[in-house]
Amino acid sequence: MATNEVNGHKTNGVNETATKHDFSSLKVNQSRLLDAIHTGCKFGADHRYGDDPTETGMARLSLNDADKQIRDWFTATAESLGCKVTFDQMGNQFAIRAGKNKTAPPIMMGSHLDTQPTGGRYDGILGVNSGLEVLKVLHENNFETEGSVGVVNWTNEEGARFPMMAVSSGVWAEAVPLETAWNLAEVSPREDGQRRTMKQELERIGYLGTQPASYKAFPMAAHFEVHIEQGPILEAEKRRVGIVKGVQAFKWFEITVKGRDTHAGTTPFSARMDSMLCAAKLIVESNKVAKKLGGLATTGILTGLPGSINTMAHTVTFTLDIRHTEDEKLAEVEKECRAEFARISREESEKGCQVEWQELVDSPAVIFHPDCIAAVEASAKEICQELPMTADDGQLWKYMISGAGHDSCYTNRRCPTSMIFTSTREGISHNPQEYCSPEDCAIGAQVLLGAVLRYDRSRVEQGDLK
Ligand SMILES: [Zn+2]
Repeated sequence: MATNEVNGHKTNGVNETATKHDFSSLKVNQSRLLDAIHTGCKFGADHRYGDDPTETGMARLSLNDADKQIRDWFTATAESLGCKVTFDQMGNQFAIRAGKNKTAPPIMMGSHLDTQPTGGRYDGILGVNSGLEVLKVLHENNFETEGSVGVVNWTNEEGARFPMMAVSSGVWAEAVPLETAWNLAEVSPREDGQRRTMKQELERIGYLGTQPASYKAFPMAAHFEVHIEQGPILEAEKRRVGIVKGVQAFKWFEITVKGRDTHAGTTPFSARMDSMLCAAKLIVESNKVAKKLGGLATTGILTGLPGSINTMAHTVTFTLDIRHTEDEKLAEVEKECRAEFARISREESEKGCQVEWQELVDSPAVIFHPDCIAAVEASAKEICQELPMTADDGQLWKYMISGAGHDSCYTNRRCPTSMIFTSTREGISHNPQEYCSPEDCAIGAQVLLGAVLRYDRSRVEQGDLK
């Protein structure tokens, strides 16, 4: 029955169930994978929380000195496996291991090596290292793939230092103009008050490439990304692998509330234009609206000017991140927030405030490619058969929709793409104590290996490599 069901979705031959392959014996090396992860984390380790050498978080902000060091490490590691490594105008690094066919676009395994300022050791890092581990397994087994296979390290995925997430895969997909990305200024100014741009920092650390950052200059046959779930679902349901079918829609805004700065002691409530109080009400309202419509709303940054204890703020800016699995529902969340913000600022803010919206990011819901999903699914099912059963319903894998944005959202626009999720302790991410067990890291890499080799095999049948 399972076979029929799978065959019903057959698209290119990657759907076979647990038939044995000549690559079924290829196994990732768990301790080598973990060793690589933690070796790399020496560059940018921060926020110690325990005695073990690995019990720190990370602060490897994009294009800082630690990021240069991990990039150099990435290149050296890939070159030691016989890969050719290049980087483009956005500093995206591509390591390619040649297949029998050396000219067709490669299948890429990608993620990112930059972190949040209070980040962990797995977000992005697991994905890149899983790709490198797959290359190591292929290398040590002298395994020749049909087409080329490689690993990509995307620049500034987090958007934490240069405030546009996944900006460099966005440039590659030609969804973000190169100049816009280059001119992004870092969020926090230097000691001299200056903010450096991405281009300046790429240049400074030696990663401003000449290869055009474009899918036209560097086409990919497919893009697979292993990532920690960053949520609590797999762990709570005692499952091991998320087969990710898409990513929920999200939008980022900067909201500016303008009032008037007056004395905290001499200005009665009735005479106030208190932008901070107004902003607080708007934030609470966004939470209410998102809850009602089954979405999410978050404010992560709030700043008030002039910033005095006994003076009302004349201007408050805050960020608003709204999300929903459906584009239409997300539009409803936005529409209702806009209407309510206008009403509250007019009617519930004493003498009234002004609200301005600036859209920063618009990321529609993403639906990954059925061929890539099928390759991940076949691989996940085979691997889950060998694991101890922990889930109550006897299924260790689960179809999932990603709550977070990823580089895969952009690659999906230009090549077949999908993702693999691994269990994340308590769902904690963007936090120094973010954790994925060694076993779960290895499962992610093993599913990746099986998915990539299935997809590679299917390219022959598709005539993709002629
Ligand atoms: Zn990530």
